[in-house]
Amino acid sequence: MTTETWDAIVIGSGPGGLTTAACLGSAGKRVLVLERHDVAGGNTQVFRRHHAAKDGGPDDWFEFDVGVHYIGECQPGGLFPTIFNALGIGDRLHFRPLDPDGFDTLHFPDFTFRVPAGWDDYEQRLVQQFPAEKAGIERCLRTLRTVAEEGRNIFGGERPTYDLWSRRPLSELFDESELSERVRATVDHWSGLYAGGPQQTAVVMHAGIIHHYMNGAFYPEGGGQMIAARLIQVIEACGGEVRTLTPVDRILIEGGRAVGVLLEDGSEARAPIVVSNADYRRTIDHLVGREHLAPGTVAWAEQAQMTLGLVCTYVVVNTVLDGPNTNYFVFPDYRTDGLYEELDDGHLPNSQVPFAYIALASRKDPGNPELCPPGHTNFQIMTLAPRGYEFWGVDTGPADGEQYRRNETYRARKHDLQDRLIDAAETVLGPFRDHIVHVETATTLSHERYTHSTGGTSYGYMHSPEQVGDGRPDHRTEIDGLWVVGANTSSGHGIAGAVTGGVFCAGKILDRPLIVDMYMGTKLVDPATVPPDPQPFDPLEYSRGARLRAKRADRVQSLRARRDTRQGQQPG
Ligand SMILES: Cc1cc2nc3c(=O)[nH]c(=O)nc-3n(C[C@H](O)[C@H](O)[C@H](O)COP(=O)(O)OP(=O)(O)OC[C@H]3O[C@@H](n4cnc5c(N)ncnc54)[C@H](O)[C@@H]3O)c2cc1C
Repeated sequence: MTTETWDAIVIGSGPGGLTTAACLGSAGKRVLVLERHDVAGGNTQVFRRHHAAKDGGPDDWFEFDVGVHYIGECQPGGLFPTIFNALGIGDRLHFRPLDPDGFDTLHFPDFTFRVPAGWDDYEQRLVQQFPAEKAGIERCLRTLRTVAEEGRNIFGGERPTYDLWSRRPLSELFDESELSERVRATVDHWSGLYAGGPQQTAVVMHAGIIHHYMNGAFYPEGGGQMIAARLIQVIEACGGEVRTLTPVDRILIEGGRAVGVLLEDGSEARAPIVVSNADYRRTIDHLVGREHLAPGTVAWAEQAQMTLGLVCTYVVVNTVLDGPNTNYFVFPDYRTDGLYEELDDGHLPNSQVPFAYIALASRKDPGNPELCPPGHTNFQIMTLAPRGYEFWGVDTGPADGEQYRRNETYRARKHDLQDRLIDAAETVLGPFRDHIVHVETATTLSHERYTHSTGGTSYGYMHSPEQVGDGRPDHRTEIDGLWVVGANTSSGHGIAGAVTGGVFCAGKILDRPLIVDMYMGTKLVDPATVPPDPQPFDPLEYSRGARLRAKRADRVQSLRARRDTRQGQQPG
C-alpha cells in the first residue's frame, strides 16, 4: 500500500472540514480532505432520486437538501458573505431571502404568529400578539438581544449582560420575565433549531440563534450543495484535493503527535497537521484511541449529552403549492420542557408529532431545475426523534454495524411518523396526499448511517449551560498536530457554527486571527485564481471530488441530456 504526503489532512467534508481546508489552502498549504461518503459536504449535501416518467419518456429526478433549510447573516457585510468574499468565492454564492416580514410562520392551536426579521419588529409583533405581557416580553427580549450582541464583539470590551446571563438556563430567563405558557412556546420556537428545552439550554444558545436570523433568513441559490462545491473549488485552486469514498480508519500518532491517517483500504497519508471533522466521540474512541488521551478527555467525550436527532420526510407533489416564502412550524400544544422530557425518555409525545417544521424548497429556490419538473412542488417536513435506539427497535446504530432497514419495528415507526408529519403539513398546506409522486423518510438512523454522528444528531453535543462555548472541545487538542472542528466543538453547530468553526480552527493552526482579517476585508484568495465553472455547473457532481467526478462524467452527461430533452430545454 502506498503512502502520500500532504501539508494537512482533514477527515470529513462537512462545512466545518471544508472551511478549515479552504482557509489552510489560502495560506499556501496543500490540503487533502478525506470523505467516507460518495459526495462531499456532510449535512450540506443534497441527494437525488430518479423518477420514472409514466408516459415511458426519459426519466426526471428530484433533488432534496439534507441539512440546509435556511441560514441567517447572508446580507451584504454579514458573516457568510464576509467569509466567502475573503475566500474568493463571494461572487459565486448567491443567497435568496425568505419573506422578511414572516420567514417562519408558527401555527399554534389558537393563533398564528409570523416571525419577522429585526429585533425591534420581532419584539413589537410579540407585544401585539400578547399585549398583557408587554413588560415581560420586553425584559426577555432585551436580555436575549444584549447577550447576543455582547457575545459577538470579537474586538473585546465589557459585556456585563453576557457575563450575567449567557450560561444560565433559558428557563430562568423565562421565569424572571414571568412569561405565560403561550409566550414561552412562541419565543421558544427556535429550540427546534438546536433541539433542547429551556431548562436544558444556555441563554447564549437561544440568543445566538435568534440573532443569527435577525438580519433575515436566506437560502443558497442552487441548494445547500452549492456551499460545499464552492469551498471545494477553493481547496482545489490552492493545490488541495477532496477525495470521496475514502473512509479514515485511524489517526496515526507517533511520539505523542499526529502524523497522518490510516485509511480503511490499508494505505496511509501523512501530514504534520491532522484535522478531524468527524464526530468527536468517535474521533476520541476510535480514530485516535483512548490510550493516547487523558482520562478526563475520554470521560467527557463519553458522558457529555448529545442533542436529539431529526426525522425528515421528503415530498414531491404534482401540483404547485403557492404561498409566501416562509417555513411553517405546526405545534400541537404549548409545551416546551415537558415535550423535551418525553423525547429524552425515548417516547413520542402523543398521537401527533412533537412539532412539524415544513420547508418548501420550491418556494425558496424557484429557479432551480434540479428540484422537480415544472408544475410540481418539492418540500420537506421535519421533527425531532425520541432519544436512543430502543424507540426504533434496535440495540445499536448503523455506524456500529446495525442492519436496521428491514427491522419491522423500525419500519412501522418510520411509516407512522411519516403519516403524522404529512397530517401536520396538510393543516397548513391544504390536502396534498393525492398528489404525492415521491415520498420517503430519513430517520436519525439514516443520518447516523451517512455521517457516522453519535446517535444520528447533526447538532453535536447539547447546548446546555455546561456544554456551550468553551464547555465544548476546543479546536486545539491535547495531541500535537491534531485539531478538531464541526458541530461538537466550541464554535457550535449549524452551517454558521461549523463554517465559523472552520475559520477559527484554521486561524489557530496558522496562529493568525483569520476572522478579524476577514472582517477587515483581507482577500485571502484572489477570485481570479479560482478556475471558471465547468458548464453546466452541477454542485452535486462537483462535490464528488476530482477523481470520482472524472469517472462519472459520461454517465452524468447522458442522464442530464435526457432530462433536459424531457423538460424541453437544449442539453447543456
Ligand atoms: C434535517 C436537518 C436539517 C438541518 N437544517 C439546518 C438549517 O436549516 N440551517 C443550519 O444552519 N443547519 C441545519 N442543520 C444542521 C447542520 O447541517 C449541521 O449542524 C452541520 O452541517 C454540521 O457540520 P459539521 O462540520 O459538523 O459536519 P457534518 O455535516 O456532520 O459532516 C461530517 C462529515 O464527516 C464525514 N466522516 C465522518 N467520519 C469519517 C471518517 N472516519 N472518514 C472520512 N469521513 C468521515 C461524514 O461522512 C460527514 O460527511 C440541519 C441538519 C439536519 C440533519
